[in-house]
Amino acid sequence: MNLSIATRAALAAGIALLPAFAAAQEPVNKKDADAAVKAAYAKYKGLKDGKNADYIPALAKVPSELFAIDLMTTDGQESSVGDLDQEYSIQSISKVFTLARVLQDSGEKKVVNGVGVDATGDVFNSIKAIEQHKGHEMNPLVNPGAIATTSQVKGSSPEAQWNNIIKTYNDFAGRDLKVDQEVYKSEADTNERNRAIAMLMHAYEIIAKDRDPVATTDVYTKQCAVAVNTKDLAQMAATLANGGKNPKTGKQVITADHAKQILAVMATAGLYDNSGQWLFMTGLPAKSGVGGGIIAVSPGRFGIAAFSPRLDEAGNSVRAQKAIADISDKLGGNPYAVNAEETQKTQPGR
Ligand code: GLN
Repeated sequence: MNLSIATRAALAAGIALLPAFAAAQEPVNKKDADAAVKAAYAKYKGLKDGKNADYIPALAKVPSELFAIDLMTTDGQESSVGDLDQEYSIQSISKVFTLARVLQDSGEKKVVNGVGVDATGDVFNSIKAIEQHKGHEMNPLVNPGAIATTSQVKGSSPEAQWNNIIKTYNDFAGRDLKVDQEVYKSEADTNERNRAIAMLMHAYEIIAKDRDPVATTDVYTKQCAVAVNTKDLAQMAATLANGGKNPKTGKQVITADHAKQILAVMATAGLYDNSGQWLFMTGLPAKSGVGGGIIAVSPGRFGIAAFSPRLDEAGNSVRAQKAIADISDKLGGNPYAVNAEETQKTQPGR
């Protein structure tokens, strides 16, 4: 080919940039995903570190051996293993989807100015974190910010707010979800601390004066008790990975802009005070719940969910974290990773 030096240089630069981008967007190979999911399951099945959450009495009774993993690509392909039909309470993973509702209905200013999007560096139900900044400098994924976010859901009554919340979760999951009444009652009977958090956020007017903090805590408790299985969570995560469009139902549940903002908040605070460590290891926006579930998202490629009830000190499932980290590693899920070697190899003339 008879190309000018300038054209050659431009092409080389363009081609050199492309593979890095293409690698990040490369579709996940089904065989590789199946193998990675099965390998992680086998590797961690016997791991017994951590223990069930017991501050909500019903969670202490969930069999600790349960273990499931489900990965769903943005084109709807699934790789899964373990106790896939087992339902458990969504707990704090719900916070992501209530945030989605508020972003859709009220826009990001309401969230950024009203609740905040900064890491607190403290445990998820820290009262010290509220006091430090008079209810500001929070985020929607720790309890004070999450309860405030629930209070912002549109609706003239707690029932109307609840209907908006559950409809949103259903759209993400692609099926009608129900509240686990036992978990709901168990937490409602023992959630003095969350009520205190809500009262404090009300006193600081982060929960608006015209909202009832106790009724808000009740709606929040109900959202945490929504029963999901690991396939549901994978579909919810895959919807986030797919710019807010559910890969199975085809419904655009939230805008791509909001999906992107939610992932940023998940990266910042999804695993509470361990979020930095998690992001450092995996690069994946994620969210855990004390029920033992974790979702993580490789933007544009896949959503993954894992479930195992035993938690570490920060309240994050031990086996779910390890399994997701391994699988994402094998599939090149880290969105920050650029394969420099590949880039070099594909330059013309090498
Ligand atoms: N419902 C739980 C609580 O408010 C959720 C906490 C969590 O999953 N980290 O304490």
